[in-house]
Amino acid sequence: MNVLEKEKGTYTSDVHEYVQHVYETVKQRNPYENEFHQAVKEVLDSLLPVLAKRPQYIRQAILERIVEPERMISFRVPWVDDQGNVQVNRGFRVQFNSALGPYKGGLRFHPSVNTSIIKFLGFEQIFKNALTGQPIGGGKGGSDFDPKGKSDGEIMRFTQSFMSELSKYIGPDTDVPAGDIGVGAKEIGYMFGQYKKMRGRFEAGVLTGKDIAYGGSLARKEATGYGTVYFVEEMLKEKGHSFAGSTVVVSGSGNVSIYAMEKAMHLGAKVVACSDSEGYIYDKRGINLETVKRLKESEKKRISEYVNEHPQAHFFQGCSDIWSVPCDIALPCATQNEIDENAATVLVSNGVKAIGEGANMPSTLEAVNVFHEHGVLFAPAKAANAGGVSVSALEMAQNSARLSWTFEEVDAKLQDIMKTIYRDCIEAAKENDAPGNLVVGANIAGFVKVADAMIAQGVI
Ligand code: NDP
Repeated sequence: MNVLEKEKGTYTSDVHEYVQHVYETVKQRNPYENEFHQAVKEVLDSLLPVLAKRPQYIRQAILERIVEPERMISFRVPWVDDQGNVQVNRGFRVQFNSALGPYKGGLRFHPSVNTSIIKFLGFEQIFKNALTGQPIGGGKGGSDFDPKGKSDGEIMRFTQSFMSELSKYIGPDTDVPAGDIGVGAKEIGYMFGQYKKMRGRFEAGVLTGKDIAYGGSLARKEATGYGTVYFVEEMLKEKGHSFAGSTVVVSGSGNVSIYAMEKAMHLGAKVVACSDSEGYIYDKRGINLETVKRLKESEKKRISEYVNEHPQAHFFQGCSDIWSVPCDIALPCATQNEIDENAATVLVSNGVKAIGEGANMPSTLEAVNVFHEHGVLFAPAKAANAGGVSVSALEMAQNSARLSWTFEEVDAKLQDIMKTIYRDCIEAAKENDAPGNLVVGANIAGFVKVADAMIAQGVI
């Protein structure tokens, strides 16, 4: 390829062709994996300027290597339901890149989980983890098991079977899973117990998101939601805005959403809407977070029940229309591709000032273009939601040192990390001719750290 022969000068058109070639190859080699293609495209398109400046990345085939997981594991998960029937699910773990440290990334239990979802999440995780500045590689896993409507016994038997197989591939210095959609402290507890039993060792550092009672970190539960708000507050500050006095819409009502709402409220925002997979609630006086926490965290009920206790609020069937609620700041915190081009256009026409992605890849590529074209401040997931994995890495550090830091200590470290990530993204965007574009900034800042480590470690 032409570009490989050039040492100096401008590479722009050749680099574009080369990147397009890598992307087409990814599509051919991984057919039907649309979410994975989308995540790869977003990253590759951002890298053009840095590839033009540093041809060693092309010579060393960093792109071709980085889009190929080091290992993709898929396995059978048989378990017995409460009626005595044998059920079979599929388990996954992608060990995508270990250039910076042991693979690190959550486990998702949701019926939509398949190879494409796991690979998109694992690919994103490589760059997110690099941005945190912590020594962690990228991985992700999960199952198409649906925890909704399952008894505690069923969840325990499923997670034990899942861990019986997964335990062969993980360890504190190998691969350290955590939670994600459908996997919280309860599921992590059952998995930890099974891992301990199979290994005959108490290796606290094998999983993060553990209960405080046996090696978890204070502020891990809050970390992703709080971190997203810390990041967005930095972004707002630069333009003279703030959460204080702003109207906010948050999708979802799970772990990330609840703590994003909590921190936004701490900073003086009014959160007027949130959702679950059935629909959304609108409370113009401001959502009562205690009610949401009780309904979703303790009682595992539907968000629609909120209106029984707060009759001034309204419930609307269908979660995607939540983006028609006028707001200054939108925080998508539920799932991938929940904001499409139409939803983005509606948000813009209602005057939204900023978007902060708490969920992974919640905006489609077209939606992101709409935000950029209209000058909406946009905080991309791999930077904005990196607080969760950052505190997971702090949990690993506490486990290694056999220490427990206070909530305030962990929260202060989280704030520092989110501010540093923001600054690194802004710098990388500026250096690469895309000032203010945090998508470009996050992708380049994360990529460069991983690519340099890959080169230093040789072709492996
Ligand atoms: P939870 O399972 O705690 O909550 C997920 C929320 O999103 C629930 O309200 C759920 O509704 C809703 N939801 C899930 N799937 C869909 C769907 N297909 N359509 C509409 N709504 C849906 O998950 P988390 O809060 O942990 O994760 C949310 C997002 O944040 C994910 O994208 C995850 O990858 C990302 N993330 C999470 C981190 C963490 O630390 N937990 C770290 C970084 C990113 P219902 O209750 O009806 O299921």
